[in-house]
Amino acid sequence: MNILERYAAMEYDAAPEARNEADAWLAGRDFGKALFIGGEWKAATGGKTFETSEPATGKLLAKISDAGDADIDAAVAAATRALPKWSAQSGYARAKVLYAIGRAMQRHQRLFAVLESIDNGKPIRESRDIDVPLAIRHFIHHAGWAQSLDKEFPDHKPVGVVGQIIPWNFPLLMLAWKIAPALAAGCTVVLKPAEYTPLTAILFAEICERAGVPKGVVNIVPGGPDAGAAIVNHPGVQKIAFTGSSEVGKIIRKATAGSGKKLSLELGGKSAFIVFEDADLDSAVEGLVDGIWFNQGQVCCAGSRLLVQEGVSDAFIAKVKTRMGRLRVGSPLDKNTDIGPLVDRTQLDRVSGLVAEGAKQGAECWQPDCALPSTGYFHLPTLATGVSPANILAQEEVFGPVLAAMTFRSTEEAIELANNTRYSLAASVWSENINLALHAAPQLKAGVVWVNGTNMFDAACGFGGYRESGFGREGGREGMFEYLVAKLPLGSAIKPATAEKITERAESDGIGIDRTAKLFIGGKQVRPDGNYSLAVADKKGKLAGEVGLGSRKDIRDAVSAARGAKAWAEATGYNRSQVLYFLAENLSARTDEFSSRLVQLTGVSAKAAREEVELSIERLFSFAGMADKFEGRVHAPPARAVTLALHEPVGVIGIVAPDEAPLLGLISLVAPALAMGNTVVAVPSQKHPLLATDLYQVIEYSDLPAGAINIVTGKHAELAAVLAKHDDVDGLWCVADADTCRLIEAESIGNLKRVWTSNGRNVDWRSDLVAGDAFLRRAVEVKNVWVPYGD
Ligand code: NAD
Repeated sequence: MNILERYAAMEYDAAPEARNEADAWLAGRDFGKALFIGGEWKAATGGKTFETSEPATGKLLAKISDAGDADIDAAVAAATRALPKWSAQSGYARAKVLYAIGRAMQRHQRLFAVLESIDNGKPIRESRDIDVPLAIRHFIHHAGWAQSLDKEFPDHKPVGVVGQIIPWNFPLLMLAWKIAPALAAGCTVVLKPAEYTPLTAILFAEICERAGVPKGVVNIVPGGPDAGAAIVNHPGVQKIAFTGSSEVGKIIRKATAGSGKKLSLELGGKSAFIVFEDADLDSAVEGLVDGIWFNQGQVCCAGSRLLVQEGVSDAFIAKVKTRMGRLRVGSPLDKNTDIGPLVDRTQLDRVSGLVAEGAKQGAECWQPDCALPSTGYFHLPTLATGVSPANILAQEEVFGPVLAAMTFRSTEEAIELANNTRYSLAASVWSENINLALHAAPQLKAGVVWVNGTNMFDAACGFGGYRESGFGREGGREGMFEYLVAKLPLGSAIKPATAEKITERAESDGIGIDRTAKLFIGGKQVRPDGNYSLAVADKKGKLAGEVGLGSRKDIRDAVSAARGAKAWAEATGYNRSQVLYFLAENLSARTDEFSSRLVQLTGVSAKAAREEVELSIERLFSFAGMADKFEGRVHAPPARAVTLALHEPVGVIGIVAPDEAPLLGLISLVAPALAMGNTVVAVPSQKHPLLATDLYQVIEYSDLPAGAINIVTGKHAELAAVLAKHDDVDGLWCVADADTCRLIEAESIGNLKRVWTSNGRNVDWRSDLVAGDAFLRRAVEVKNVWVPYGD
């Protein structure tokens, strides 16, 4: 036998990781008292428990206290008690606690890793080398944010008590992504681990005791969906941070509507793994192994859709199959294992069912010839080829080791296929041509794009998606904002609009010729589809004019015009700034006219009216100036890569503008949205819409491309609901009465658009805080593009 033959014949020997420490920990703990509330270990009030078992063997690991409503009450009460002191503490004091947590975790790193692999089934190589070190990094990284909070986030305060609900696929890492920024921001937390994987969260609570976390700052409440729902619905919680399925994410969006709770949702994905023909195919194969078979494919950002360019498709698929044949499926505690068991039998059945259905729909499902362990919930790595874009394996999040492969011819087709999903979480692009990769990255609908890499994460770089992948970011600067609230100057409650009976015409304003205020859609003044009008009163309640009564159809036309106005989204920041400056210039030329109109309609004094117009012009000027300045960042994560945190427009933003300060309010919302390259469908003040219709001519003279701004006058509650339900609207900002705000949050679940409401209150539009970053941040999605370097 020569040396090559010897190498080929060599077999892996078992390399088991010792589990005695973990077993001793399991044996030595009373899991009947596994609720960590107010710094004490408690049994569930109702005495209920649930079981967690080992996916590799199916054996029971522990019976864990199952938190009920009374326990969630107690945990929220403990977090509420701890909040004032914790949030008032110096950033330095909080930083020391975060640092101590990170160091204490480091001292028990191996125990965490082994326990995670036993409870979840993930290979020890992954928990030891990725999950646990990254979790530690999150705490140490966020110590710095805690200390620099006042300087880095002025005009913000901690959101308060935070309810956090996490899934089972990265139990410790998701906990770290949630707890580290919350504590850094000065919040206290009630965290519920997933019912399949509560163990490392319980060990983490022990770490909190040792690291000197003040009692009640961190509360850990194992339990199932009911415990999750109790946290979501608890009135003492000011923010919900959820990671899990899109289905539950939508339930939570609906449940929190109108509650004023801040919400971040990290949901599912169906990420594309795009291989161009000039890619380094061998590297791409290795990337793919990581992309889809990391953690058995139970990864929200798994590259589960392989898109490979036709010219290299056969060669690439052949390489993938050869590599799949070498994947080692087996015990998660074997250091050579690539693929462990799925987390539970339910998951195994679900994945097997989806593969069978995919095959029924025409996909060819290939698996390597490899023996599976006799116990446990193992599923062979699976490659589905001949997958049509409509196949269930191309559309549904499988959350298992199943790859759906498709081919493409051109770059445009690759992007179209990649974006053909209701999710927008991540994407991976493989090409040796950096120009091509960076041309594709901005066009991909994804919150994270990896160039020639995959599954790269870091505490300094935000992670998260949009559309049905949720909203909000975890990690980095943008992740900190999720736990802070801007001190926006909110005012009195807004009363619901009432139908005004206007019978008498106001005295002539001297203009003479009757003016018809239409809608403004696609750059043109158009009649409302229904051909109805809405009477508008002046300050004395007399008829000042009539505007079009916009309907569902008009909103649909406006959204389609906004979607089509690509020139605006693609314009440079400098171009956009010039247009907004020009808009300010043209409005300025008509200061007198707009001031008189404000007096006539709202009854404010001439001085106040003039101030409002001048401030509106100043605000346009200010956001014009920011159009080429509110930019992203470059991160240097601890890897040979740079991460470009790009600011991209959210897309089409619906804006429901206030009655109070009808000109300034409208402009304060529309200008930042436009400045960042969004296109807008605005519903102006219902009471004083003539201020907006008077703007048409100013807009027409200001070089804004057709469709960049569309204005539909009419009834707030009706039009806001249509915008909320419209799946082609990406963001919605609404200043209206509480009922309307609640309604639009509840109705926004179709595509999980990003919604901001004033929660039924007025805003002081004169405040400098409104002119600051608050709305610019809402006007962008941060896309993190990872670009590795070096050979
Ligand atoms: P899941 O939504 O069923 O459960 C997630 C968590 O929510 C669990 O703790 C569960 O107990 C709780 N829960 C269930 N119903 C609830 C309700 N009605 N109210 C409140 N809480 C409730 O998801 P899962 O099956 O545990 O996790 C898999 C999903 O998580 C996948 O879709 C995956 O893509 C997603 N995920 C997303 C990310 C991300 O960052 N985007 C990360 C990891 C996982």
